[in-house]
Amino acid sequence: MTRELIIAIDGPSGAGKSTLSRRLAATLGYINIDTGAMYRAVALAALRTGTDPGDEEALERLCARLHIGFVRSEKGERVLLEDEDVSSAIRTPEISLLTSRISAVAAVRRDLVRRQRDMGEEGGVVLEGRDIGTVVFPHAEVKFFLSASARERGRRRFEELQAKGVDVDLEQTIAEVEARDAADTAREHAPLLQAPDAVVIDSTNLDIEEVLEKMLEIVESRRVALRAGR
Ligand code: C5P
Repeated sequence: MTRELIIAIDGPSGAGKSTLSRRLAATLGYINIDTGAMYRAVALAALRTGTDPGDEEALERLCARLHIGFVRSEKGERVLLEDEDVSSAIRTPEISLLTSRISAVAAVRRDLVRRQRDMGEEGGVVLEGRDIGTVVFPHAEVKFFLSASARERGRRRFEELQAKGVDVDLEQTIAEVEARDAADTAREHAPLLQAPDAVVIDSTNLDIEEVLEKMLEIVESRRVALRAGR
């Protein structure tokens, strides 16, 4: 093994992927790539430019000219669209719903998957999304599939939005989580699927620290096995 690992974290929205991916990457000294934020940035750009989410060619042209990046600042990890910090603008319920539509478009997926492979191929990365272990890096050394009940995930999203001052309703947030699950699972291109070799962690009754501990143990045992040539 000459390079550091590629770690894939997939799962439905609200399963704790973002927090855990960030924490895992920080603990290991790896780069963290939030692929959902990339799809969200494309959705925001489509909304702002009036691009029809049903027009695949227009979306393809839009993607080709977008610059999407990540920077670390004193406010934490920020998402850039061109040179603008869009970290908050991409988290509204309106963008969440639009992102589910945009991310079902094959041309958008092709563009973003290529970018994700370019960013991750050197290793030393944690990528989180829906299709990392199945499509983006099917040969990732470690694959996690994080899950939790839809109710619990909706509750977590609700608390997160409230903490940010976004005024939302709990039942409506749960319903939105369920609607997005259904859209992400039913779509034709790269639906949310569990890789057969992924380690499944159900976090319904676990807190972040407990899940992180489990993940670190698995990463460590994988490293030992790889070093031993297994
Ligand atoms: O993870 P997050 O909730 O920010 O992702 C937003 C949306 O982006 C998801 O609902 C899904 O439709 C899409 N997505 C995707 N593939 C990924 C990451 C996110 O289709 N790898």
